[in-house]
Amino acid sequence: MILAVSKLKNPSPPADGYCGRFAPSPTGPLHAGSLAAALGSWLDARKNGGKWLLRIEDLDTPRCIPGADQQIQSQLLACGLFWDGEVSYQSARQTLYQKALERLNQQGQLYPCTCSRQTITNHLAALGIQTPRHQEIVYPGTCRPILLEGNANGVITDSKVAWRIALPKNCQIDFEDLALGSQSQDLNTQVGDFVLRRGDGLFTYQLAVVVDDADQGITHIVRGEDLLSNTARQIYLQTVLGYKTPHYKHLPLVLDEHGEKLSKQTLATQINTQDERHSLTELRKATRHLGLSGLPDGESITIAEWLLAATRAWS
Ligand code: GLU
Ligand code: ZN
Repeated sequence: MILAVSKLKNPSPPADGYCGRFAPSPTGPLHAGSLAAALGSWLDARKNGGKWLLRIEDLDTPRCIPGADQQIQSQLLACGLFWDGEVSYQSARQTLYQKALERLNQQGQLYPCTCSRQTITNHLAALGIQTPRHQEIVYPGTCRPILLEGNANGVITDSKVAWRIALPKNCQIDFEDLALGSQSQDLNTQVGDFVLRRGDGLFTYQLAVVVDDADQGITHIVRGEDLLSNTARQIYLQTVLGYKTPHYKHLPLVLDEHGEKLSKQTLATQINTQDERHSLTELRKATRHLGLSGLPDGESITIAEWLLAATRAWS
């Protein structure tokens, strides 16, 4: 199956209106990188007269920091990035993910996997495939025979197995990114059958994000380029779950002085929103990262006025 999601370039506004979102994981407060992603998706939504939702992606509980969700919300508010409606929390939406998972299982698309990382590398080595360090390993389908033997349609419970989706033979995903142009990923050779529910019982980001974006009617996903390599998996899941594929726009990443992406893991410093003047300075830095220029400088402008100018300048 070759899935081509074409004609996404220069979209006319979708019939049901633009709906964007910012979906931070509460693993720490906002830093320059996450603020740039938030601002980019906010500007895109406002420019298009759309809605902008805030969704806290707090499924990976071991990585979540208590209170970070509140911190993120106050930082966004301090920067004038108001969201529409209630904040949603993935931890409160798990029945939806379970339903989607069971649907796929009933269609015979899932199989349980008990492989450790070591089992996978051993299997790859036996196939003569090197697994470069620091690179995502492509799952070679070690447990897939369970599916072929017809034993996979078990009940998905809390037992210690991961659940993977079995990809069709040809699974090249083509899509048009609104910022980066034509993109293509062959899921079999670059990812392999991927996990939708982990052995520790947690639903994965790939499943939850797809279910939520569809359930919340998201039409435009504007986010950092670090998430680009997940997009093909998400489009594939949308297809098998019968969801519409939203438009994607991936924004340039903010790099530190060593050329590394800023992240909460590398302890990037949180933005300073102690008062309006500091928040405005952070916003100005974020727009420079996003490549916007010609915005009003000077101290006498309010955040609201400045955001209006930034929205006009956004394309
Ligand atoms: N929660 C993800 C993150 O913070 C982003 C999800 C997304 O925008 O698709 O990296
Ligand atoms: Zn396995």
